[in-house]
Amino acid sequence: MEEISQKEGAAVRLPYDVIVVGAGAAGMMAAGTAARNGHRVLLLEKMEKSGRKVRITGKGRCNVTNARPPEEFAGQVRTNAEFFSTAFAEFNNRATIRFFERLGVKLDVERGERVFPRSGKAWDIANALLEYCVDNGVKIVYDTRVTEIMTLNGRVFGVRYRNKRGFERKEECPRVIVATGGVSYPATGSTGDGYVFAADTGHAVEPVRPSLTPLVSSCLWIKNMNGLLLRNVRATLCIDGEAVREEFGELGFSERGIEGAVALRMSRDAVDALIDGKGVGLMVDLKPGLTEEMLRERIAREMAEMGPEEFFSELLRKLVPKALVIPLSEEVGAHSKNYIRKITPEQIERLVKLLKGMVFPISDYAPFEYAVVTAGGVSCEDVNRYTMESLKVKGLYFAGEVLDLDANTGGYNLQIAFSTGRLAGMLKQ
Ligand SMILES: Cc1cc2nc3c(=O)[nH]c(=O)nc-3n(C[C@H](O)[C@H](O)[C@H](O)COP(=O)(O)OP(=O)(O)OC[C@H]3O[C@@H](n4cnc5c(N)ncnc54)[C@H](O)[C@@H]3O)c2cc1C
Repeated sequence: MEEISQKEGAAVRLPYDVIVVGAGAAGMMAAGTAARNGHRVLLLEKMEKSGRKVRITGKGRCNVTNARPPEEFAGQVRTNAEFFSTAFAEFNNRATIRFFERLGVKLDVERGERVFPRSGKAWDIANALLEYCVDNGVKIVYDTRVTEIMTLNGRVFGVRYRNKRGFERKEECPRVIVATGGVSYPATGSTGDGYVFAADTGHAVEPVRPSLTPLVSSCLWIKNMNGLLLRNVRATLCIDGEAVREEFGELGFSERGIEGAVALRMSRDAVDALIDGKGVGLMVDLKPGLTEEMLRERIAREMAEMGPEEFFSELLRKLVPKALVIPLSEEVGAHSKNYIRKITPEQIERLVKLLKGMVFPISDYAPFEYAVVTAGGVSCEDVNRYTMESLKVKGLYFAGEVLDLDANTGGYNLQIAFSTGRLAGMLKQ
């Protein structure tokens, strides 16, 4: 341990063993863990309070982890799953559940094995993490933005920061954990500073792009669907005309684009394909429980029960939500106020095909402001996966979303923050 600084020839004991940059999910886990293991910890946070992002996770309910068997976790991590496996082995989803329950947060497992606090409040998770830090003696300073990681001869020796009043200061310390998050939802404090620190200290940073982000369709009538939530649909992501991924579940439509768990999960591949200039489309099966033949029979049955003076729109209302009536009529080539008796067999056939495979051409994706996570980040090649210590700078560690790690929705991203934060906080070398 290098806790001694040479100031004007005299040996001075440094006040902290480790500085953690960023009081988010990973930073608080790292800081609390280090302090619990007897280290003197300073946690610097640029915002006015801790865990601003954690507090809005899971639509304010915080999907804190996922209860599926640990061996199935790797399949949900989209990049560097192998790298992540060592942090996960140290602190897995079961450990996360035990951790929060020990801190007094009761948890429930919901659909899809997603774990939430029973209170339904993400604040309980953020506050539990904060309490873990405070109870173990972490010194936390808010409104303090770290501006530089100081290194010399391949070792870290402290940080420079700007305090609340705008004054530049420095704090010497032999170990620094960077847990500054990604660049998504920057209003929560994660604005990508960690990437700059990493690059400035000689680390490779994989290009960052939004992930779990709404998909923007060039479909003309999509704005009629704003506010619509489609449940139990099957969607297929097509890249350059080839089906690459199929998902079942919810699709939502808003002014941001197509969202909901299904679209968000697909966005990871869609964004990369769009960046590569490929053609992207989302094909939605609105009736996944019925074959085309069954659907034809269902429509025939409905039509037989309808009077000849009833409108096409009334048939459509029996099959789809109201917001889809006009778009579907237009696509079928019939007016919604056409009498049902005037609808031709060809139009019914077109309707069947549309209900089983409505295509939304995807032209763009929503920016970081709306992305749940950031894909890309500090290259895992430059980090020791058994310790989270940099392979380039001794005493420098990385944890959380700042790393080139991202996963599907379902509680996996917070688990990445907790596992890597835990391992970094153990300060193994
Ligand atoms: C709307 C939304 C909902 C989500 N819901 C879920 C969910 O339910 N389940 C799930 O698993 N994941 C969810 N996520 C993703 C999850 O929140 C993140 O992956 C996770 O918070 C990352 O943790 P982190 O500690 O690495 O980064 P962050 O939580 O972003 O924390 C980084 C911290 O570092 C601070 N900081 C940054 N730069 C500096 C600096 N220079 N000096 C000092 N401090 C600095 C920031 O202010 C911030 O407090 C959601 C994300 C969003 C945006």
